[in-house]
Amino acid sequence: MAQVNLRQVTKVYENFVAVKAVNIDVHDKEFIVLVGPSGCGKSTILRMIAGLEDISSGDLLIDGRVVNNIPPKDRDIAMVFQNYALYPHMTVYDNMAFGLKLRNFPKADIDRRVKEAAEILDISFLLHRKPKALSGGQRQRVAVGRAIVRKPKVFLFDEPLSNLDAKLRVQMRTEIAKLHSRLESTMVYVTHDQVEAMTMGDRIVVLRDGLVQQIDTPINLYNQPVNKFVAGFIGSPAMNFVEGRLLKKDRLFFHSDAFSLAIPETRAKKLESFRDKKMTLGIRPEHLHYVLPGSNEKGQISAQIDVIETMGNETVLYVRVGKNTLVARISPHFELHVGLKCQLKIDQDKIHFFDQDKNTIN
Ligand code: ATP
Repeated sequence: MAQVNLRQVTKVYENFVAVKAVNIDVHDKEFIVLVGPSGCGKSTILRMIAGLEDISSGDLLIDGRVVNNIPPKDRDIAMVFQNYALYPHMTVYDNMAFGLKLRNFPKADIDRRVKEAAEILDISFLLHRKPKALSGGQRQRVAVGRAIVRKPKVFLFDEPLSNLDAKLRVQMRTEIAKLHSRLESTMVYVTHDQVEAMTMGDRIVVLRDGLVQQIDTPINLYNQPVNKFVAGFIGSPAMNFVEGRLLKKDRLFFHSDAFSLAIPETRAKKLESFRDKKMTLGIRPEHLHYVLPGSNEKGQISAQIDVIETMGNETVLYVRVGKNTLVARISPHFELHVGLKCQLKIDQDKIHFFDQDKNTIN
C-alpha cells in the first residue's frame, strides 16, 4: 500500500507563493501526472513529496502518516530526475547499486536486485559501462533502474523524458507505463507535455500558477474541462476559442463577429440565464468539419484557408473566420489549396461555453 495525500500544501519562497493550498490524493498503485506550463509549481510539489523541499504549510501524508518532517532517506521514495544524475566515474552496475550500498544491503541482495532491474529494463549488457559510453535513452534507463532496485513505496519522476529525441520519448513513454503495471507501484510523474500526461496518467492534475485547476482522468479532462485554461491546455492542436455573446431571437444564438450559431435545444435551458452576456465558444479542431461545395447543410460558416498541414492520416487546416484564426482537423482526402474560400460546419453537440470568468458553463 502506498497512498500519498497533500492537504492544503503551500510553498512560499521568500515572498513568492509557488504552491497554493494544494489538495491531491494519490491512490495506491495509481499513476498520477502533474502537468502545467513552466513555473506552475509541479516540480516544487514533487520535491516536497520527496522531502527535498520544506513544506511552508499544510500536511503531506504517505500511507496515512504525516511526513512533513521526515528526511528524504526515510520516506521510502525514489526519484528519477530530468538530468538522470548518474555518477560519471561509476559503472552502470555501481550506479544502480549505490543507493543500496549506502543503506547497507547485503552484497548478494544488491547483486540480485541490480541484475533483476537490468533485466526488466533490458540493460543487462551495459552493466560494466560508464555513463559516458551510453546513449541518452540508455542513461535514462539506468536512472530508472537505480530507482527500481530500491523497491520504494512511491516513484517520483521529474520530466524524465525531456532530454530524449521525439521517437525515443514515445518509446520510453510506453516502457514507463509498462513498468508501472509490472511493478504495481504508486507513481507521481511531472511533465509540461500534455500528450505525455494524457497517454500515461491514470489521472492528471492540471496546475496553473501554483493552483490546482482540475484533477481527473484524461478523457474527462478532454471532454469536460472545468475552465478555459484546462480546455486550452489539454488537446493538440488546442481548442479554438471564439469571443461572442448569447442572443435570443426565435431561439438562443451564439453571436460572434463572423457567424451566428444556433444553440442546440439540449443546451439552451442552462444557457438561457447567460442571455445577452459575453462568453467564449470553444470548439475542438476535430469538431470543425469541412463541407463539400454545393452542400445545403444548415449551420455552415464561411472560412478562408491560410495554412494546410498535411499529416498523411489527416489534414490540419488553419482558416480565417472573421477576425479569428481557427484550426480544423479534417480528412486528408479533400483537394484544397491556400487562399480557398470554403464552408465549415461546427459539430454543435460537442461545443463548449465559458463565462466571463473563464469557467465552463455546463
Ligand atoms: P518548469 O516546468 O519550468 O520546471 P515548474 O512547474 O516545475 O516549472 P517550479 O520549478 O515548481 O515550476 O517553480 C514554481 C515557481 O517557484 C516558479 O515561479 C519558480 O521561479 C519559483 N521557484 C522555484 N524554486 C525557487 C526558489 N528556490 N526560490 C524562489 N523561487 C523559486
